[in-house]
Amino acid sequence: MNQNWHGTLIRHLLLLVTGCLLVGLISGYYGWSLAIGLAFYLGWTLKQLLRLHEWLRQHKPDEAPPDGYGLWGEVFDSIYHLQRRDQRVRGRLQAVIDRVQESTAALKDAVIMLDSDGNLEWWNLAAETLLGLKTPQDSGQPVTNLVRHPRFKEYFEQGNYGEPLDIPSPVNDHLRIQLYITRYGNNEHLMLVRDVTRIHQLEQMRKDFIANVSHELRTPLTVICGYLETLLDNVDDVNPRWKRPLSQMQQQGERMQTLLNDLLLLAKLEATDYPSDNQPVAIDSLLRSIKSDAQALSGQRNQTITLDVEADCALKGSEAELRSAFSNLVFNAVKYTPDGGSVRIRWWADSAGAHLSVQDSGVGIDNKHLPRLTERFYRVDSSRNASTGGTGLGLAIVKHVLLRHRARLEISSVLGHGSTFTCHFAPGQVTKPQPKTLID
Ligand code: ADP
Repeated sequence: MNQNWHGTLIRHLLLLVTGCLLVGLISGYYGWSLAIGLAFYLGWTLKQLLRLHEWLRQHKPDEAPPDGYGLWGEVFDSIYHLQRRDQRVRGRLQAVIDRVQESTAALKDAVIMLDSDGNLEWWNLAAETLLGLKTPQDSGQPVTNLVRHPRFKEYFEQGNYGEPLDIPSPVNDHLRIQLYITRYGNNEHLMLVRDVTRIHQLEQMRKDFIANVSHELRTPLTVICGYLETLLDNVDDVNPRWKRPLSQMQQQGERMQTLLNDLLLLAKLEATDYPSDNQPVAIDSLLRSIKSDAQALSGQRNQTITLDVEADCALKGSEAELRSAFSNLVFNAVKYTPDGGSVRIRWWADSAGAHLSVQDSGVGIDNKHLPRLTERFYRVDSSRNASTGGTGLGLAIVKHVLLRHRARLEISSVLGHGSTFTCHFAPGQVTKPQPKTLID
């Protein structure tokens, strides 16, 4: 193998030339015999080249190269070995790919690979059961054509995959699926889909339980509060010493009623993804009415409440839900701002959408509490909370209402210097206000 082919080639050529010269010596035609000899050599070389070309073009995977003589035989063999080595490497790679595909095919979770434009490239068996993908017809199709839920389309196009998405399965409405999308390589997407029907059912049971308990407690509580009111009205006829305990009982009863109402509202908000009402809501008049309620709540506390409406636009959604969210923010600002403080409500719009901010000069909130503030019953200071009479559900309601209106809540606060709660609404949620009718 390690023969010196350089030397051999030169020897062969010298042999050919010597042969030709000998023939020339015998025949007397040196030039012709040399030319014929070299032409013969060239012809033979071309023939070998053609055989090699033919073999490279048409050989079967395991077919050995044609037999060759000398250097050409060596070239044939080397190419054949290179090919065999390449085949072995490819075989090993294919085995790895097959194992990965076999293991992902055995997964209960769906794995889908999408190209940079969101077209389907590859998926496992579970993707066919969970998403109804069909092999091979759906290959190359945009995923948004096959998973047609509007929330999926929005989620996929926004490209913000920090949080997973929960939607009903396109194959079966009773199946609930959770989608995770990760970007990899050249902006390709890897989509994982899990069946979360069981977790969803448990979650649903929890929500139903809270809604039912709150509903069932409402009637007895109304009766108790009614009697307490009557007793308080006639307390002097019963026993004046009962006045204080009775009024405390009435206060706590009212607090429980507010709590139940908030729990019922939250249950209602959680029941559907979007508000059933999707009319343009005039925010300026809504804020004016909330401002006058806030002034009533503030009473004699000498707080300055200002309203700056800088945008003449409406929001698509439910007026009742938006009122509840905005008034929770404004009333919190009034509650957590000491006497003489200020509360500023501002409504404006720009290219990023419409925004509402409620800024106060109140007690402020330590940074460490901010991420958990919208959790149910999360309180910064429970002793302070008891005095303000809050339920701890206000910001949870705000978060849910905003989610349903494609908006997000931003909270910034400096302890001791006040807080700003800002609601950012997506441009798609902003609309023109409805023209006022003559009756208005
Ligand atoms: P609550 O009914 O107790 O006010 P919320 O969910 O509305 O419940 O608020 C949760 C907690 O966030 C409150 O207990 C309070 O400590 C804090 N908080 C809310 N708004 C403000 C604000 N404007 N300034 C200071 N703290 C606030």
